Amino acid sequence: MDSKKLSDIRKEQKAAEDIFNALQKEAKKFSKKDLPEELKNKIDEAKEQIDNIKKQLCSKAFVFGALQPTGNIEALNEQYYLGFLYKKELLKFEVAQRQRYAEIETKYGGEELAKLRESKKQIDEKIKEVKDRIAEYKKKHSSKTASAELRAEMKPLKKEREEASEKISAFKKTIDSAAYKVAKSEHRQWIKEEYKRIRTEFGQSGKGLGWGTQAVIAEAVQDTRKGRKAPSTFVDRTREVVAAQIQTDKVTRMSMTLDEAFSCTDNRFRIKRLPDSAFEKGASRKSRHTVAQIKIGSQKNPKTGRRTHVPIMVEVPICMHRKLPQDSMIKWVKLFREKDANKWMWRLSLSVEYPRPIEDADISSILGVDLGWRQVEGGWRIAHWALRKSDTIVESGELIVPDRIINKLTHADKVKSVIDENRDNLKEWISAWYKKQDKRKIPDIVRDELKNVHTWLSHNKFIVFIRVVSGNAFPNSDQLLDVLVKWKHRYKHLLAIWKGDKRRAISARNTIYRQFAHMLRKKANILGLEGMSLVAFKESPQPDSAKEESKTAKRQLQYSAPGTLRKYLEEKFDYVVRVNPADTSQLCPDCRDRLDYGDDRAFGYCKSCQKMWDRDLVGSSNISLKALEKIESVGIVEACKKPKKEDKKESE
Ligand SMILES: [Zn+2]
Repeated sequence: MDSKKLSDIRKEQKAAEDIFNALQKEAKKFSKKDLPEELKNKIDEAKEQIDNIKKQLCSKAFVFGALQPTGNIEALNEQYYLGFLYKKELLKFEVAQRQRYAEIETKYGGEELAKLRESKKQIDEKIKEVKDRIAEYKKKHSSKTASAELRAEMKPLKKEREEASEKISAFKKTIDSAAYKVAKSEHRQWIKEEYKRIRTEFGQSGKGLGWGTQAVIAEAVQDTRKGRKAPSTFVDRTREVVAAQIQTDKVTRMSMTLDEAFSCTDNRFRIKRLPDSAFEKGASRKSRHTVAQIKIGSQKNPKTGRRTHVPIMVEVPICMHRKLPQDSMIKWVKLFREKDANKWMWRLSLSVEYPRPIEDADISSILGVDLGWRQVEGGWRIAHWALRKSDTIVESGELIVPDRIINKLTHADKVKSVIDENRDNLKEWISAWYKKQDKRKIPDIVRDELKNVHTWLSHNKFIVFIRVVSGNAFPNSDQLLDVLVKWKHRYKHLLAIWKGDKRRAISARNTIYRQFAHMLRKKANILGLEGMSLVAFKESPQPDSAKEESKTAKRQLQYSAPGTLRKYLEEKFDYVVRVNPADTSQLCPDCRDRLDYGDDRAFGYCKSCQKMWDRDLVGSSNISLKALEKIESVGIVEACKKPKKEDKKESE
């Protein structure tokens, strides 16, 4: 069945937002305390209305492989560099801001506040200690939940922490000094002005950083301020956003529909439309090649030096391997690049919003997928699935990554360890060589580096060091240079092998994952998954498993990449219900009694039903059941809502 049209939903959304804004304006006439009850209720209602409308939409990010952009490359590089400076500036400001605030607190809060903070810090440390033990327990017993004792230990601590936070905020309220209030308000004002200054300095009237890119960076910095994890495109220097455009979080602002992008008339973003035949089954990959254009800034008027409305666009060849939902709105366009060995790989990411096809949900069949690593004959088992039709499991199976792919990955890792070994040997050689040299004859700049060589881990440092040595010759420096250059050639060679092998193996593995998601999607359109953090990705016990070392566990996680599999599944299914993972492998799917796994741990026995259960089937079957129950109790739309980030943390 068809769903509502996007334009209709947007109209509804706009009307609801207008009402909300009008009410907000009305509320501004009152102080917070004197706000009439009636008005307050109206505002809450309007908020809920907006939320309800938003539920009709869902958003998804599509990432397309790209080639290096063409045209205006210098401008693009400049943008990238400006973005880098902007990020640095914002972080500097962030640090200064925190320091200033701490100073104000110390000045007016005095010893009392310091004491309160110290006691909260101690509680935090205790909590961390228990958390570590919980993690250890989970790993040891391959359980998704902590033991009752540990939970009992954690509970009062959490309460204590809450109380400590309350005490701090209560104490802050008692600081009844006018000067404190003035200082705080001055601080807020300073933040506002400083932020504005930096924004203007880098903006279109200043250095000319494209505002989309500017917004992405500012958002990432704010995320770090709020204690959220910054996106990987922000921290990881091997994966960087180079340019971004369009932000349509608010309906009234800057919206762009997919059709508008395809019409190639807007100056912000354009994409050449592909014929429908390109997405038919069996169509070649090449037929899905197209180009996108993204605005990275505005041209300057050569006479006045001012920015004009003439855009600077870069063209990006992309492969649109998937069809975008027809009736959708573009929220974000991000052009980023990832470092792969010595090459930059380009990607264009489009996040779009489209009407949720609500009528499509078919509750009569629900899939449950249990992610869990286990070695089996011929490969690694990554997931187990079960298809439920009302009360019974009608079909089930598993996903296995074959040995040949695992072996390829292992081989790639061996190459990596050779790379590291070579670096360590190089370090040793340099240290020994340095001891024999006449230190007075070595230029300061080289000597300072030589002193620290033994602490270097990054290969890049040695490559930079080559430049330092070759630029500052001294007696015997050609000996050193000779060894360094030989090492560099070998390093580059091995690096290409390592990255290449790894990329090929990962791409083969991901193909298997995609096919798996595709196969499942044909069986049902509702999927139950565990709403757990991937760090807790459990290792199911192997029948003859010895103690697993953490290094091996890490490698398993890396090789099997459950996060990637999750992503593919979430992309493929319109309805993903995330369920609480607690006890999914411990309870009998029929009667919910606790299963007795005994020593075998592969089969569990239910005393009530007098039945043996395959451990794998128990997990996926229970997950599908939990998903079904969740849908029945809160409805499909609510059940598919992603948990908020805070909730995720608490679900341990
Ligand atoms: Zn039972």
